[in-house]
Amino acid sequence: QQNNFLLSVTHELKTPIATIRLIGETILKRSLPQEKQHELLGTILENTTRLQDMTENMLTAMQMENNRYTIKKEAIDLSGLVNEVKQSFSLKNPIFGNIESDIAFFGDPILLKMTLNNLIENAIKYSDNQPVELNLSVKDRFITIEVKDSGAGIEPEFRKKVFRKFYRIQDEETRETKGSGLGLFIVKQAVEKHKGKIYISENQPKGSVFTVVLDLGV
Ligand code: ADP
Repeated sequence: QQNNFLLSVTHELKTPIATIRLIGETILKRSLPQEKQHELLGTILENTTRLQDMTENMLTAMQMENNRYTIKKEAIDLSGLVNEVKQSFSLKNPIFGNIESDIAFFGDPILLKMTLNNLIENAIKYSDNQPVELNLSVKDRFITIEVKDSGAGIEPEFRKKVFRKFYRIQDEETRETKGSGLGLFIVKQAVEKHKGKIYISENQPKGSVFTVVLDLGV
C-alpha cells in the first residue's frame, strides 16, 4: 500500500503540474483571444486548488500520524461553515439537501472543513459527478452531518477498511479514479479528535451515506 501510495501521489502531482506548465507556455507563446485566456486561467486555478488540497491532506495526515497535530477548538457557527463549503462546490457540482441554521459547535474549523471537503470530493468523484446531498441537523445533544451520493456504494466488508491510511478499494472504479487513500484516514482522525463518530451506510436506491455525529455534550 505504501508503494501504491507513492505511485499515485507522484501521478497526482505530475498531472496538474504538467497541465499548468503547458498552459503557461501556450499563453506565453501565442496571443490568444481574451476569452480563451480566461478559460485557460480557470484551468490553472482548478489545478492549483487540487495541488493545494492534496499537499494539505498529506501534511495533516503526517501530523496526525505523529500526534503532532494540535487541535485548535473555538466557538464555530457550524451552519455557516457547512454552507460555506457547500457554496465552494456549487460551481463544479450541484449539492442539495437541508442545512439547519444556527447550529453552533465548539471545534476546530480547519479540521471540520477538511472533513466536509474530503467527504464531498469523494461523493462527487465516486458517483461520476452526480448531484450530492448534504444535510446538517441537530437533535437533543447530537449534531448529524450526512453526505450522500448515488455512486456504486461501498460493500459492507470495506466500510471499516476504507478509513485506514492509504487504503483504496481494489475495484475498477477506484482504480480509474484519482486518489491517494488519505482522505478518509484524515476524516476519521478529525472526527475522533472531536470525540465524534463516523459511519457508512447504503443510500437508496444506490450509493453511500457518510454520517458524522458530533456530541454537544463533550
Ligand atoms: P482516495 O484518495 O482513494 O479517494 P479516501 O481515503 O478518500 O482515498 O477513500 C478510500 C477509498 O474508499 C477510496 O479509494 C474508494 O475506494 C473508497 N471510497 C471513498 N469514498 C467513497 C464513496 N463515496 N463511494 C464509493 N467508494 C468510496
